[in-house]
Amino acid sequence: MDYTLLNENEIENFPVNFSEKLQDAKDALENLKNTDDLSYKNFIRPFADIVHDLHKEFTKLSHLNSVNNTNKTQEAYKKTLPMVTEFFTDVSLDGKIYQIYEKINSENNLSKVQKAVIEKGIRDFRLAGVHLPEKEKERVRQINLRLSELGNSFFQNILDDTDKFSMEVEESVLSEMPESEKQAAKEGDKYIFTLQMPSFIAFMTYCSDRKLREKMYKAFMTRAPKNEDIIEEILTLRYELSQILGFNNFAELSIYDKAAGTAEEVIEFQEDLAAKCKQKAQNDFAELQSFAQKYNVKNLQSYDLMYFSEKLKKEKLNFNEEELRPYFEKNAVIEGLFTFLQKLFNIEFKPEKAVLWHKKARCYKLYIDGVEQGTLFMDLEARKGKKDGAWMNDWVTKYTNSAGEKILPKAFIVANFPPSTETNPSLLRHRDVETLFHEMGHALHHLLSNVDEYFVSGVNGIEWDLVEFPSQLLENFAFEPEILKMFARHYKTGEIIPEKLICKIVDNKNFHSGMGFVRQLEFGLFDMYIHMRKMSAEGVEKTLDEVRDRVAVIKPPEYTKFQNQFAHIFAGGYAAGYYSYKWAERLSANAFYDFVNNNIFDNGFAQKFLDEVLSLGGSANFEDVYEKFSGKKIDNESLLKLHGII
Ligand SMILES: [Zn+2]
Repeated sequence: MDYTLLNENEIENFPVNFSEKLQDAKDALENLKNTDDLSYKNFIRPFADIVHDLHKEFTKLSHLNSVNNTNKTQEAYKKTLPMVTEFFTDVSLDGKIYQIYEKINSENNLSKVQKAVIEKGIRDFRLAGVHLPEKEKERVRQINLRLSELGNSFFQNILDDTDKFSMEVEESVLSEMPESEKQAAKEGDKYIFTLQMPSFIAFMTYCSDRKLREKMYKAFMTRAPKNEDIIEEILTLRYELSQILGFNNFAELSIYDKAAGTAEEVIEFQEDLAAKCKQKAQNDFAELQSFAQKYNVKNLQSYDLMYFSEKLKKEKLNFNEEELRPYFEKNAVIEGLFTFLQKLFNIEFKPEKAVLWHKKARCYKLYIDGVEQGTLFMDLEARKGKKDGAWMNDWVTKYTNSAGEKILPKAFIVANFPPSTETNPSLLRHRDVETLFHEMGHALHHLLSNVDEYFVSGVNGIEWDLVEFPSQLLENFAFEPEILKMFARHYKTGEIIPEKLICKIVDNKNFHSGMGFVRQLEFGLFDMYIHMRKMSAEGVEKTLDEVRDRVAVIKPPEYTKFQNQFAHIFAGGYAAGYYSYKWAERLSANAFYDFVNNNIFDNGFAQKFLDEVLSLGGSANFEDVYEKFSGKKIDNESLLKLHGII
């Protein structure tokens, strides 16, 4: 098979060819809208075909732009993306299509899954404001436009101030820093640190000079003062938007298309967790405080945390992630993951010969009982021209098209693991192994879908606050001794990973987890409270202080302005949604313990889970489905237990 996706010429001509495709799609949609006999079968199925074709074609470019980034892919992507955005915005505001959905909703022969397609569709139309009178619709359009500008400025202000600051230091204050981090900071014979994440973190973790740490921290935490006004405008507009769309506040609007029931429920969830882990967080902090006293630091400050935490961890755990890498040779880890999944779900990944976009990428076919289910591509090693981080990208969704053909799914897993060379294999860190399991969870969610309807199959239609459920569930297995022993062998000697190293991996994960936990809850609660009512800049500051007084174990210095850098909620998609991480993690923790209680592989539990939960894709609320499946209520305790807090 040839999966090079696009050649040089096709990349260059992509915007032109794609705009023709879009025009065809618009024409086809116009025809569809004017069909006489509008029904689920006659409208939704062919409509899904249109969306499917566009997504499949555009993903070729967006994928290449992420993994083989060149000037050509950038240019093509920059030209094409606005066309795609415009098309889908127009669809979301198309009153005629909305009416068709409403009409189909009254058909009484819809299956449960088809009903979900229609209900979620109607919900999204209403959130776009399609049902409003023209004047209000126009205001919604203006607000959304302005919000997107403000989000960009918010982000840009952070970037600008991040780039403005740098600090040269003497080598003597870096004696505790690992050589690789030191080298990264070396320019000629100078050591220069910046506010870019890797540099900042290395400095705060290893610089032994307290005054310099504070200087760096202060520069970081006072970035983007201009964002204070932007925050006020964003919150005001979000509030107005929520009013126009018929909600009491923006938090309500945000929760409307999520799995959580109400904003109050989300707050209660986080307040309960905060109350339950406060003691552990205080113990963590007290331990750190008394440790720091040995180094004559009496009053531990925010800018001391990373430094002393690392030092204490080293002393207590003696954890060295390099020591583990020989046990995690990349190909052996992939093999091991496949073997684990075969044992768990009775699914099989087999390598498939194919020409791909890069020689390091691999193609696998997925089988159940010898029947092909879909295709998985893995492109795991770091290289120039690949975007940072790791992700799963859905290329093709499993569904039945309007001609009745069953379309098989395809997905990419991309990562930036240490590259292999002719002579050296790629040896992963344990966090890479965890990442691979995580992304595989997303991929399985997409590939193992048993849903025929495009809009809610695989990851399509899944609620934002549950999308991480399958991935977080799977990553937990990367910490299980029984699973690790299946594949973690020394690449030279074949020795199975020693028990004491596995213990260290888990201890390292849970080290001072109480403090980490309350910090996340502080962000999550702050995010909810400021979206519950109309807010001024002072109100924002006051809310943050109140949350900190109750939840945090350490108060940062007066000058810090964390809110001005909280891009997740002011320049990203997490407004009144930061809680989503913990929300999905709670469900995955509950499910994980159920697997463990069934000895992971026993009692057909995993198979049942696959059939009755995971394969439902985005067609049902995982939480409701899981409660029914397991016969018990989801609890917060499992989440705390998983992090070693209780
Ligand atoms: Zn994820």
